[in-house]
Amino acid sequence: MDVLTLALPPSQRSKLLAAGFHTTAALVSVTPFQLSQEANITLEEATVVLKLVPRSDIDHVGALSLSGPLTGSTTAWDLLIHEKNRRKIGTGSTEVDKILGGGVLSKELTEICGVPGVGKTQFSMQLAVNVQIPAEFGGVGGHAIYIDTEGSFMMERVLQITEAVIDDLRNKSPASAEDLTVEDFLSHIYLLRVHDPVEQLAVVNTLPTLLDEHKEVRLVVFDSVTFNFRQDFEDMAGRTRLLANMAQKLMAVAENYDVAIVLVNQVTHKVTSEGSRTVPALGESWSHVCTNRLMVYWMDGQRYAHLAKSPSLPVGTAPYVITEEGVRD
Ligand code: ADP
Repeated sequence: MDVLTLALPPSQRSKLLAAGFHTTAALVSVTPFQLSQEANITLEEATVVLKLVPRSDIDHVGALSLSGPLTGSTTAWDLLIHEKNRRKIGTGSTEVDKILGGGVLSKELTEICGVPGVGKTQFSMQLAVNVQIPAEFGGVGGHAIYIDTEGSFMMERVLQITEAVIDDLRNKSPASAEDLTVEDFLSHIYLLRVHDPVEQLAVVNTLPTLLDEHKEVRLVVFDSVTFNFRQDFEDMAGRTRLLANMAQKLMAVAENYDVAIVLVNQVTHKVTSEGSRTVPALGESWSHVCTNRLMVYWMDGQRYAHLAKSPSLPVGTAPYVITEEGVRD
């Protein structure tokens, strides 16, 4: 259907046309936030426009994105729609989001590794808050499960980060952010404290049940995945098997439940013929497991995030800072 047929003021219609939205079908995969940015209209106007998209267009795209995997006849178009509909959780830094292709992706495992104090937990807590940013602001509007193995989750810090996110959304659109409360945000981060490898593996096995019970969850964080497996492990071959098994289960969970899984990893020093260098912990076989690997590090007093591995994005580096508000550019 042509956008000219929508019951909209002429000025809005021409803004939609100028931004390249000629048909209502073109509006199916955009969020209100994206539309407001691209067509230069307010968030409220964008929300009204998207409500006018006919049901038949939405069903058509929904059917395309489902038909492939179910019938075994996926087309490139299906994949494009699937890709467009991937949920992306912003990190708080637009520069880091850029190298990640828009943010941390659902249906994938993303590892964040770096030395102690560099900001891995800050990223993790920020993501647990940011995953809750509502769809009308370009967010995912989901909940988070935070699995804390080191006791590093800091309530006061998450409160600061949450208040900053809500303030930011209120500045963008007071009306749309009116109902957002700190209590809701904090109530939607489900915390699990695990103390040893057995508990950690039990949590991994229980994740499908937890996600069945909490269908809004779109992010699962393991902070860190390493701690329990670096401590008491003498049987390295056994550790490799356990980690491979855990990773396989997590990949299935990410895909089946449409969640992003973030795995915080530590680093270790590896001595080679050229000297000592810092490498992610847990060994070579683990490094094949994660879909994406983000290395965070310090250099000359500046924090950087380096995308070292991704199936579809080039390697890239972005600076970031940590402020009172959280992770920022
Ligand atoms: P790790 O990589 O060990 O998980 P963290 O994520 O805990 O490290 O990051 C710790 C870093 O975050 C420290 O450099 C600290 O200065 C910084 N940080 C923590 N809280 C704040 C804050 N309120 N304001 C500015 N920086 C902060």
